[in-house]
Amino acid sequence: MTELYKLIINGKQVESESGATAQINNPARTNEVVGSLSVGSVEDAKKAIDSAYDSFGGWSETTPRARSQILFRAAELLAQSESEIAEILTREQGKTYPESLNEVRLSSAVFKYYAGLAPTISGRKVDLTDPTEFGLVFKKPIGVTVAIAPWNSPVILMAVKLAPALAAGNTIVAKPASSTPLADLMMCGVVNKAGLPPGVLNIVTGKGSEIGEELVSNKKVSKIAFTGETETGKTVMSIASRGIKRVSLELGGSDPMIVCDDADLDLAIDAALVSRFRNCGQVCMSVKRLYIQKGKYEAFVQRITERIRKITIGDGFAKESKMGPLHSKTQKQKIMGQLSDAVEKGANVIYGGKEPTESGLSQGYFYYPTLVANVDQTSKLIQEEVFGPVLPIFKFSTIKEAIDLANDSPYGLGSSIWTKDLDLAMTAASKIIAGTTWINSFHEPQIDLPFGGLKESGLGKEMSIEGLENYLETKSVVVNSKGKKRAWLD
Ligand code: NDP
Repeated sequence: MTELYKLIINGKQVESESGATAQINNPARTNEVVGSLSVGSVEDAKKAIDSAYDSFGGWSETTPRARSQILFRAAELLAQSESEIAEILTREQGKTYPESLNEVRLSSAVFKYYAGLAPTISGRKVDLTDPTEFGLVFKKPIGVTVAIAPWNSPVILMAVKLAPALAAGNTIVAKPASSTPLADLMMCGVVNKAGLPPGVLNIVTGKGSEIGEELVSNKKVSKIAFTGETETGKTVMSIASRGIKRVSLELGGSDPMIVCDDADLDLAIDAALVSRFRNCGQVCMSVKRLYIQKGKYEAFVQRITERIRKITIGDGFAKESKMGPLHSKTQKQKIMGQLSDAVEKGANVIYGGKEPTESGLSQGYFYYPTLVANVDQTSKLIQEEVFGPVLPIFKFSTIKEAIDLANDSPYGLGSSIWTKDLDLAMTAASKIIAGTTWINSFHEPQIDLPFGGLKESGLGKEMSIEGLENYLETKSVVVNSKGKKRAWLD
């Protein structure tokens, strides 16, 4: 009999109140069961919140240095379990094993980063107008934090919430995506073993549509850290607004990449390929619109097509696989729908645009990496987020035109500009409305830099010092040192 993955509430692995279970299937071979899990309900969500609430007093009063030691230990344990977690991640999510391993390693590095940052949490003393008084600024944990992760990179997107929230002294109820709960359950089990008091880190499974409202609206919850689709983010924000809860949102993106005539084409093509097709295009900050200046357009199209042709798709464990399957049937249908909408509006598919017919791939949600040109600006491929391996390519004349096109999107997550002219690059970086602009560099977040979206791509930052600030409240204290009386208004 296969192991049943369980919820973690108050430091114990428990089955859900209802006894409901679900199976997770492998997106590369849909008839293969990866594992079974206990599925939580509103009752379980409430129990997890109570447990986090009850443990907040004790945990929030631990010293940052004590929390730091536990987080260092968590980083170490995650590194020791990397192959186990990466394996389950590939099997439930579909990405290649090296991609999963990178994700778990980055998660361990994130724990280490916030372990190092925890002892730097400090307030300050402020001199005030009245010399008999002074002010103190306290940095305090917020309270019970609900951390909600999506399915595309479930481990790292949970880790960037757990590590800073714990470093700041918050307690947590984690909620993984329903289609990728196993790696997150495993990671939370590992982190708990680092010495967290029971109840500090809980994890509940269950459908967002069923338990989400309880998690976000429960009065004992003070902060919600959410990553997912923009529409779900709006729902979360609206529910949270009833209690003026602290909210951080990492949402969808439609990142433009602008390649000027003077760019290093080899580097730019490499970056476009990896950025668009890793994790089968299911990355929030991957290149989703490619703008090439007219002098290099033909050469770029020819060279990138040759490279796309060589991308081997297959099971994430096969050594030669560079791209795994899409995560689900829904994703595949959505991508195919967006592509056919563009084709109906006049787009032409340069490469791909179909499902593979090779034996061994028919059992999974595989799709060819696709390059498409002449895409109308009103197409779904441009107006919506494209979360799959389809890359629209455009020709532009002036940099102003490219920036205007780049900004013509409801999203503002990442962006990049490729040119040897640093002045031009800096001007573009200040004019493109996005949380990050990479200059001659690949779309990838850095632990030391704040990452997050503008416009409908989100609110608040993850990673870096700002990522820790996300989990701290600021409180002012005024100290009257001389016991001076306040004169009445006369
Ligand atoms: P969803 O918004 O569908 O789901 C995200 C999470 O929210 C899941 O755990 C889901 O649970 C849960 N959820 C669903 N409904 C509710 C609700 N009413 N209340 C509370 N929680 C709810 O996103 P996807 O999982 O499809 O993830 C892909 C999206 O994430 C893409 O748009 C992508 O761009 C974005 N993303 C953004 C990143 C960023 O940093 N900006 C990084 C990575 C991804 P369940 O699975 O049970 O439905």
